[in-house]
Formats: sequence, C-alpha cells, structure tokens
Amino acid sequence: MESPIDSYLRRIHNEIARLKDGAPYSTIPAMAQVDPDSFGIALATVDGQVYEIGDSREEFTIQSISKPFTYGLALEDLGCEAVDAKVDVEPSGDSFNEISLAEGTGRPANAMINAGALTATSLIKGSGGQSSFKRILGTFSAFAGRQLSVNEKVFESELKHGHRNTALAYLLRSFDIIEDDPAPVLEDYFRQCSVLVNCFDLSIMAATLANSGRNPLTGKQVLGIGSVERVLSVMMTSGMYDDAGAWISSVGMPGKSGVAGGILAVLPGQVGLAVYSPPLDDHGTSVRGLATAQRISRDMELHFVRAA
Ligand code: GLN
Repeated sequence: MESPIDSYLRRIHNEIARLKDGAPYSTIPAMAQVDPDSFGIALATVDGQVYEIGDSREEFTIQSISKPFTYGLALEDLGCEAVDAKVDVEPSGDSFNEISLAEGTGRPANAMINAGALTATSLIKGSGGQSSFKRILGTFSAFAGRQLSVNEKVFESELKHGHRNTALAYLLRSFDIIEDDPAPVLEDYFRQCSVLVNCFDLSIMAATLANSGRNPLTGKQVLGIGSVERVLSVMMTSGMYDDAGAWISSVGMPGKSGVAGGILAVLPGQVGLAVYSPPLDDHGTSVRGLATAQRISRDMELHFVRAA
C-alpha cells in the first residue's frame, strides 16, 4: 500500500512534469548532454524516513549546492571570525557568477556566489595526511551518509571552460583574499562542483542540516550547531542569488540551487527536500525544482512562518 505522502508526491510529480520551460546549463560542454525530462523528488525527515519519486536515484553533479557544505567545513576549521574576515554574510542580489567584490578590500559579499565560494574553498587545507579536496569530499560524503565520487569529465570540462571562475580566483588573489596560488584552489572548487549526487543523497544532506548537523541515517555529527546556524542563515538570504527574495517569500525555507538542475531546501527540526530537473530559469534555478519546492511548501505548510 502506498503511503499518503507517496501518493501525494506521485500526484504533484505528474503535474509538475508537464512544465517544459527553461533549458539545461550549456556553458560547460560536458554538462550539456542530459535528459531534460529527468525529474526526481526526495523528502527526508530528521528521523531518517525518506520519500522519493521519479528519477530520485539518477546521478548529476552537485554544482553550487556544494557551496554551503564547503562553507560549513571552513567555519568548522577556522571559526566564524576568521572566515568572516575573508567572506561577508550579506546578500548581494547578484547572479551566481557576478564579479562583485567589496571596493577596497575585495571581500566577496557571501559564500553562495562564486567569488565567496572560491574563497571558502581556499580556506580548506589538507590535514592528517588528507589533501584539502579529500577533506571536502569526506565532508560531503558524511553529509550524504555514503562515499561520493567525482565526475572527472565534468571536472575537466569546468577546468577548461570555467573562464569566469578562473578570472575571479586570480582577482581574489590580487586582493589577498585568496592567499596562495589560485590554481589548486580552482581545481578543488571545480572538483567540488563535479561531485556526483542523486536526490536521495541531497535530501539526506538537507536533513542533516535540518537535524542540527547530525546525519539522520548514520547518527554522525557532521557539523557543529554554530556552523549549521551560520550556513542556514546565509542560505536563507543568499542561497538563491538574485532570486533570494522571491524564493524565501514563496518557499520560506533556506535553499540552494545548482546549475545541473539540483535544488535543496531545509526546514530546521523537520525535513530536507531535494529535487532534480535540468532545465533552468534565468537565475540558474531548476524550473521544476522551484515549482516543486513552492508546491510542497504550500501543501505541507513548510514555510517557516506556518511551520512554527
Ligand atoms: N560550477 C558552476 C560554476 O562555478 C556552478 C554554478 C552554479 O551551480 N550556480 O559556474
């Protein structure tokens, strides 16, 4: 017997699948070959119950959804104050790849736009015999509750075609926001964007944030509550870039989108939601992902005002 939540998800999946607007990301050639009809949804509760529908086990690259998790690791490693000195916590209202650095200091507005995310990545150092990237991948894997891997083809393609990010990293170096050679930082950043996940993984990553940093499947405390609080705050104000205001008004949960078509939303203390559908709107947000988050938020009263 299908549970009421499963049949509800089936119904809205059918309805939202009819939305045909938007186009998959095409700047990175290796990412262009995707099925625009792929569409998955996963909803994970803080006690580890997962409801999923459609292509919820199809893998795609995490892209910008990686940013809050690397930022969280930087906060855990260095503490808020040291991280704040490098990257601010103000919404920029700019698109994800905007060249927007504070005048004079070069400090990026927040860790969700690319300039701030590159900065956060630069703060992660190797330790205990593990390279910086191994530590990043280890953190993402702990959030997901399984060992994740990198799509090397997408990584190579980002490295070759990510001219804007390359320019940003060198600009950040010129302001001493990035203090070392930008080349390895760029490699780590492109690799973290190329980590393969599915909706199930993302829903657990979101539920781990919702569960004060403790993975509901493995029971592991992945991030301290102080870092979780900070990560969710920045996701709330800046996770959707220049669409952050409309997102928080209509969905009412901290969220993060990625250009491969993934999207996640977190309702603290309750659930993590993940959607995958490649066609994007002008903000680089999945069209069906946004529609699904709005719909589920409304129907299940997940907007933080109603959920309180
Ligand atoms: N790898 C992409 C970039 O840095 C990620 C952007 C995104 O998902 N918004 O341009």
